[in-house]
Amino acid sequence: MKSNWDVIVVGGGPAGSMAAWNSAKDGASVLMLEKDREIGAPVRCGEGVGEVGLSNIVKIDKRWIKAKIDKMNIISPDNTSVKVNFKEKEHGYILDRRIFDNDLALLASQAGVTVKTKSYVHGLTFSNDGFVNGVKANVLGKDVKLNSKIVIGADGVESRIGRFAGLKTAFNMCDIGSCVQAVVSGIDIDPNTMQFYVGDKYSPGGYLWIFPKGKDIANIGLGILGDRCNSGRPKDFLDKFLSKHYPNSSILNYTAGGVPLAKTLDKIVTDGLVLVGDAARTVNPLSGGGVVSGMNNGRLAGIRVAEAIKENNFSKEFLKKYSDNWHKADGKNHERLYKIKNFILSLTDDDLNHIAKKVSAIPFEKRSVLKVFKIVVWRKPSLILDVIKAF
Ligand SMILES: Cc1cc2nc3c(=O)[nH]c(=O)nc-3n(C[C@H](O)[C@H](O)[C@H](O)COP(=O)(O)OP(=O)(O)OC[C@H]3O[C@@H](n4cnc5c(N)ncnc54)[C@H](O)[C@@H]3O)c2cc1C
Repeated sequence: MKSNWDVIVVGGGPAGSMAAWNSAKDGASVLMLEKDREIGAPVRCGEGVGEVGLSNIVKIDKRWIKAKIDKMNIISPDNTSVKVNFKEKEHGYILDRRIFDNDLALLASQAGVTVKTKSYVHGLTFSNDGFVNGVKANVLGKDVKLNSKIVIGADGVESRIGRFAGLKTAFNMCDIGSCVQAVVSGIDIDPNTMQFYVGDKYSPGGYLWIFPKGKDIANIGLGILGDRCNSGRPKDFLDKFLSKHYPNSSILNYTAGGVPLAKTLDKIVTDGLVLVGDAARTVNPLSGGGVVSGMNNGRLAGIRVAEAIKENNFSKEFLKKYSDNWHKADGKNHERLYKIKNFILSLTDDDLNHIAKKVSAIPFEKRSVLKVFKIVVWRKPSLILDVIKAF
């Protein structure tokens, strides 16, 4: 493998593939390194995405889709069930991320990106003037130093690349969801409805999700907020739920992982480096969904990196336009969603029951996601505008 590249992308998730793909579009030489031996596996995701957001970024392939979602059902702690039909623009999919992630990397490679798996990046290299100018990696068992003009850190929630480059990436415990999920089969569910169980009883500071992948199989998982983990282990909450609701089901696998529920990092670029996706904290802080927003963010980063290569300018001042474009595209909205999330965290189970009853009183055909969230923030009218803009 050659040692000199225009761009090296660390991490082959959706954000990394989109960043790599867009960086390569104008002919830059791009290398994407993934530590695992297969792109897309293991899957650590509920796999739920919005249709509009995804289709704005890539042409959707039906092989990626396990289920189409057009409704949600929210269940409050006292078991009040609130069903809401999604408007067309709110429709979603449950993906098969093994195929999906793999195809995104394939699209990148078809645009000229060289993809290497079993390639772990354990350090960065710097020029005399402090610019990041390459990586130290173990590629297929061999230690190598690889040079680049720009490194893209797409190494997910546990990112070390940003820290290596001196960026502040530390989390507050109140801004991370500790998640566990099982793929559960042998159950009877509506394949077009997402279900959310809310309240401390199910998942302190988070929610429990049932994302169908067919009529008898679903991703069932939950996230507990980092600073509420003393309430119990996420897996114990999940096992309790599964044994009560689906005692005769099969569990095909368990997975666990962290989800950043923060605002995007203040600085996501430095000289010779940009961060994207979970590494830059681009997850929607209210829902925890980070696939589409990470892809959009990776796309914007790739576009600016391609310009930087063309202009031969790898400075943070030049790269910052990516950060500004991200703020305009989604980052600002995430700040609104972050405020709404923090308000919801102040609600008790009694508040949630009360809200569920209020929404239930609205005739089914008149309910909408916007109306639900307007009722959620009724005690804090200053958030109404944020809700209207966010939804
Ligand atoms: C339990 C759970 C459920 C979730 N459910 C949803 C959901 O339903 N919908 C949704 O939109 N989002 C969901 N998310 C969040 C979503 O999975 C992430 O936001 C998304 O995967 C981020 O994409 P990414 O490319 O930034 O990072 P990742 O997909 O995490 O990819 C990072 C890649 O970098 C690789 N890597 C890391 N370090 C190195 C290194 N040093 N060298 C080389 N490679 C490295 C990793 O192996 C990984 O492949 C969920 C997350 C969890 C944990």
